[in-house]
Amino acid sequence: MPQPGPADHGFGAPPPQHGGGQPPMPPHGREATLLPPDQNQGPRPGADPGGTAFMCPYCEAVLSNPGAAQCESCLRPLPGKGTPILRVQFPTGELKVSVGQHLVLGRDAGQSPVASTFTQYDNVSRRHSTVWLDPSGTAWVRDEGSTNGTFVNGERLPRGVEAPLRDGDQLRLAADVTGTVQLA
Ligand SMILES: [Zn+2]
Repeated sequence: MPQPGPADHGFGAPPPQHGGGQPPMPPHGREATLLPPDQNQGPRPGADPGGTAFMCPYCEAVLSNPGAAQCESCLRPLPGKGTPILRVQFPTGELKVSVGQHLVLGRDAGQSPVASTFTQYDNVSRRHSTVWLDPSGTAWVRDEGSTNGTFVNGERLPRGVEAPLRDGDQLRLAADVTGTVQLA
């Protein structure tokens, strides 16, 4: 049942009074929680929060010139600023996929360039699923006929069906290998 009164705190704070000589005083604690969260407006000036170094998505070399057209280490063309990157954070490592790149997930190093992320999981197939990012910035996953299945937010994908991935989705391989999707 909705309560007509403004207070369900149970602290016995008096309601604000009008017409008195004193301005209404909000009760302690309540004022703080009502403050708009405007104290964290982006990165603090002068403080460089670590981990923002720009890395080549292919060879992971740290780039001295993030605006360069190609990686100075592996010479592959670099995604421009603002180009979306798909990341999937697994307990055993973070996978990164840039636009146009198809990444096979699986335990077989001959099939998957990220096999080392999954070698310890016997229930992950040698070629399990593929994730990629299309030019519009939509991320996708497809089960490659894995033995134990590919799941998005707990729902098993039929083999070969392309399913979109959104930021925050849980991508699971087999019973318990779960990664969090990050799209930025
Ligand atoms: Zn590179």
